[in-house]
Amino acid sequence: MKDANTLKTLKKRTRAVHSGTRRSQYGEVSEALFLTQGFVYDSAEAAEARFIETGPDEYIYARYGNPTVRMFEDRIAALEGAEDAFATASGMAAVNGALVSMLRAGDHVVAARALFGSCLYILEEVLTRYGVEVTFVDGTDLSQWESAVRSDTKAVFFESISNPALEVIDIASVSRIAHAAGALVIVDNVFATPVFQDTLGLGADVVIYSATKHIDGQGRCLGGVILGSKTFIRKTVEPYLKHTGGAMSPFNAWVMLKSLETMELRCRAQASASQTIAEALEGQPGIARVIFPGLPSHPQFALNGAQMETGGTVIAFEIEGGQAAAFRFLNALEIITISNNLGDAKSIITHPATTTHQRLTEDQRQGLGITRGLVRLSVGLEDPEDLIADLMGAMTAAQGA
Ligand SMILES: *Cc1c(COP(=O)(O)O)cnc(C)c1O
Repeated sequence: MKDANTLKTLKKRTRAVHSGTRRSQYGEVSEALFLTQGFVYDSAEAAEARFIETGPDEYIYARYGNPTVRMFEDRIAALEGAEDAFATASGMAAVNGALVSMLRAGDHVVAARALFGSCLYILEEVLTRYGVEVTFVDGTDLSQWESAVRSDTKAVFFESISNPALEVIDIASVSRIAHAAGALVIVDNVFATPVFQDTLGLGADVVIYSATKHIDGQGRCLGGVILGSKTFIRKTVEPYLKHTGGAMSPFNAWVMLKSLETMELRCRAQASASQTIAEALEGQPGIARVIFPGLPSHPQFALNGAQMETGGTVIAFEIEGGQAAAFRFLNALEIITISNNLGDAKSIITHPATTTHQRLTEDQRQGLGITRGLVRLSVGLEDPEDLIADLMGAMTAAQGA
């Protein structure tokens, strides 16, 4: 068994299979699921000692930490190139935990406007309720970041690639602007996945995943993770999350841990199929516009090529004829399922204006490019030829009606 320091020099795919493994006295090959809430102490003195200082492989209570959860945290940290990680019950527990643990009343945050609906809720409704000031900017416009970031700005927050309009944000430049003001750069990296982008290498300080998406990758468990420096994770994030109950369950951690072993293969297959499908959709009758960062028609195609290895696994496109035509199209699909998740082995399609982004006003939706004809396709692991046939068939049906 290679130790953690030797593993660090090995390639990502090797780390995805071996990093973080802790073997019990039975020497199991597949990582054990420690489905336990508590831990036994040899004596009252030992319990007291552990509460004073908890060693690296010592545990107190599963809300604070658990060996299976720890294996997942170490493995994803090794993949991301982060010093440490804290696993959470969901992606939103991670977003909330990272922001609330570091902010206090009077602080200022700058965020990109194009955000996942629940992320927008935390920034717009939760943080502001406790006296944090939040300024929203068009994330693709560096001059807006320049003028919004101030000397009292404590954090900047954005998604790249963003949901659902797939904007790409210049991580290195935004990080330079934020760091000049002493602000922490927090990136919700779901759409880029741990596979395609070295987000910390580009300048971010903290990376967040909804593990529900590509990390599980098979639509089973909710989970999330916050990655960053050891100091940020253990001194800022952990005290907040272990006392407020956002910890990942050991069962979900075990599913996520085993899923990391195949994540790169899955994501590469999904990204390659996405490129093929986006190219096939572009220019088709009935499709007004295809948004995919891997197409030269995407406004940030060059930037995406520079900071990300692929165009990702999600395609947005606009059906001519608005909501009625988009609904006819969705209802005519036979392989691709209507659901609002993403990153699953099964291809999934959603109509953001009436589902994930229904809460927004029509004006907000227009500002984010979420028109009534826009649909978001998360490409799964099916054969891309079958998916293209399904999409083309549904397009014909939608137009014929
Ligand atoms: C899904 C998602 C989240 C929330 O994750 P959950 O696991 O559903 O809580 C946050 N940000 C982005 C970009 C997402 O896609």
